[in-house]
Amino acid sequence: MRKSIRLVPLGGLGEIGRNCLAIEQRGGILVVDCGSSFPHDDLGIDLWHADHSWLVGQGSRVRGVLLTHGHEDHIGGLPYLLSELDVPVWGPAHALGVARRRLAESGIDTEESRMTTIEPGGHYAIGPFSVEPVQVSHSVIDAFAFCIDTDAGFVFHTGDFNFDTSITGNPPTDVARLEQIGDSGVGLLLSDSTNVEIPDRQGSEQGVGEELERLVREASGRVFVAIFASNIHRLILLGQIAERTGRSLCCIGRSLEMQVQVATALGRLKWKTDRLVGAEEAGDWPRERLLVIVGGTQAERNSGLRRLASGDHRWLAVQRGDTVIMSSRTIPGNERAVRDMQCDLLRAGARVISRETHPDVHTSGHAARSEQRRMIDLLRPLAFMPIHGTLRHLLAHAELARAAGVRELLVVEDGTSVRFDGRTLRRAEQVAHGKRAVALGGKPISAQRLQERCELARCGAAVVTVVVATDGTLAAPPMVSLRGIAAVGDDGIAAKVGAAVAHTVKRHRPHSGARLPEAVRRAVARQLKEFCGKRPLVDVHLIEVG
Ligand SMILES: [Zn+2]
Ligand SMILES: [Zn+2]
Repeated sequence: MRKSIRLVPLGGLGEIGRNCLAIEQRGGILVVDCGSSFPHDDLGIDLWHADHSWLVGQGSRVRGVLLTHGHEDHIGGLPYLLSELDVPVWGPAHALGVARRRLAESGIDTEESRMTTIEPGGHYAIGPFSVEPVQVSHSVIDAFAFCIDTDAGFVFHTGDFNFDTSITGNPPTDVARLEQIGDSGVGLLLSDSTNVEIPDRQGSEQGVGEELERLVREASGRVFVAIFASNIHRLILLGQIAERTGRSLCCIGRSLEMQVQVATALGRLKWKTDRLVGAEEAGDWPRERLLVIVGGTQAERNSGLRRLASGDHRWLAVQRGDTVIMSSRTIPGNERAVRDMQCDLLRAGARVISRETHPDVHTSGHAARSEQRRMIDLLRPLAFMPIHGTLRHLLAHAELARAAGVRELLVVEDGTSVRFDGRTLRRAEQVAHGKRAVALGGKPISAQRLQERCELARCGAAVVTVVVATDGTLAAPPMVSLRGIAAVGDDGIAAKVGAAVAHTVKRHRPHSGARLPEAVRRAVARQLKEFCGKRPLVDVHLIEVG
């Protein structure tokens, strides 16, 4: 009889992004992906990653991290895990290229021996597991699914995939190998649920290329094409389009420049250097001869497109007659920011083309429902557990697997571990899980500090400095600074707050040092509530002079 294994989802189950799943059996733990997610609010958060404390607590039992592909929702949390746990990493060349940059930015040494490049068809021993990568199509080069040989049989993890066969510069999903693996008997399938609500694949990468070329040809001014920086296929396509339409290429955006460097170093992107124009010369380049590739499809603060839209890019400005093509989709949560940015571009006089007006300018990297069904049919697993999606996506995907004839199904969210014995899936222990924030500037920010930021954003803050003499009288008028408090324009408020402070100090004479600051804090909070209807954060500094 087979032994059982345990799956521990730490991110990506019950939410979109931050994918991270641990697989445990006797002899060790393998972690598949270690991603991040983007913030949707404006609290100075750079990214979120999964709470890794359970993994860190397992110490040397964690034998390796295995990356499916180089998207941030699969690799973006790696620097934060590796800063706490020294563990080797396996992944496709592109994912490791991007990961090395991310680790270097976080000041983590990336000794080559700790990172192993894997190829489809190879078999890699990671702790007690043997892993075979299988080529899949996705919106990034080098995306792999994994067939993992475990004590409970083969566990197949799809990563992100689709069955588009028209992708430039990358082999398509290896359907023949999937079929063979299906024939050899898959115990458990873990499959991406992101697009379960979309019945069929809409468009193809080839169709996107044709549409982009048509739009570039009909444009008379400059053309700006906004893409997800990691979409190397589209960078290859745009290089070809630039060549065929007699335009020179210019790249704007840090992530984009990084991706171009990584893909060029890997020999995957072969742009002709004489077709490239630096951003600083692009403003003087003939407009009808320029194709600008720009990052910032989600209107991220400081991104290239957002700066162009708001007119504060250092070298370039969008002008009347220019065309801006958003060759992307809007990630749920970013709709408002993207719409505002598009309006800024329209205001500047550009023609703005997006998926809403021209559906063929982008195609999703994720499998639609019919493709998810095809994956299940090819692999014919005994058991199925949906991954990557909100609870709604996971439940719909489980239903799809049931309809495809899979009898053993389980839906869990992050933190609920699952035992699999080769035939049945059952819920097991809860483990520590959640999300951790990294602030702009790259430093982790605790839940308590983040809570303070929320309070600051909601109500503002007051800082009061009280200087008292030894007899408990005020040695100087109280100093009051108000930050971000509604109605703060009324100068009288600070004076009234100052008066309330003076009154409190008087009442407390002779003061007992410890209690006075709290009494002042309360008095100030109460006073401010009268003015603005809310109690802001109040900090009191007490200085005693002899
Ligand atoms: Zn992906
Ligand atoms: Zn993903």
